[in-house]
Amino acid sequence: MDAKTCLEKLKLVGVLSFATVDGEGNPQIRCISAIHFEEDGFYFFTARGKDFCRELLENGKLQILAYTRFKEMIRLSAKAVPAPEAEQEEKIDTIFAEQPYLANVYPGDTRKIGIIFEVKNAEMEYFHLGVNPIFRESYTLGAGTIQEKGYFITDGCIGCGTCRKSCPQGCIVQGKPYHIQQEHCLHCGSCYEHCPVKAVRKRGGK
Ligand code: SF4
Ligand code: SF4
Repeated sequence: MDAKTCLEKLKLVGVLSFATVDGEGNPQIRCISAIHFEEDGFYFFTARGKDFCRELLENGKLQILAYTRFKEMIRLSAKAVPAPEAEQEEKIDTIFAEQPYLANVYPGDTRKIGIIFEVKNAEMEYFHLGVNPIFRESYTLGAGTIQEKGYFITDGCIGCGTCRKSCPQGCIVQGKPYHIQQEHCLHCGSCYEHCPVKAVRKRGGK
């Protein structure tokens, strides 16, 4: 798996959930299919008068979620920015050519109320629940960065094995200290709750 394959899977899913944050800090989610994918990112269409557009222009924070029929979850976190002015018309035409139903929504020149945003820098998380053990990995697009999540075991580990017994994925390996196989970890927190000496820590300092 890699970022490019994740993009291809997003394209196959087609209709994606786009989450933004409004001016009051509330989450807002829309289903978007007016998307044009390229190898290194993608473009999407919305109308300038929509709250969705305003939220993107205000802070650009965007999270996209897709779930495939194979039980794969793909989450993309990024900052969306308006595409360069010189590309706006061409990208609108491209998206309308790829998604003919849009001409029903915005017939003729009414598509000119549209604006194209681009996403070229992002973090992508891939999470496959359809394999045993589960598999997860993170990738970047462009200058995107990966935010470390989950749990790790510190040198405070006394090797009692309690966490290993409580791990639903069996992804804790014996050692000094014990070790979590991050690519198979659910981030469920069971090891964290069961460790008698608090040797398991949550990434991000919480
Ligand atoms: S967070 Fe859950 S899945 Fe991950 S190592 Fe701990 S118990 Fe196992
Ligand atoms: S429960 Fe805590 S001390 Fe025991 S093996 Fe796991 S991390 Fe180490």
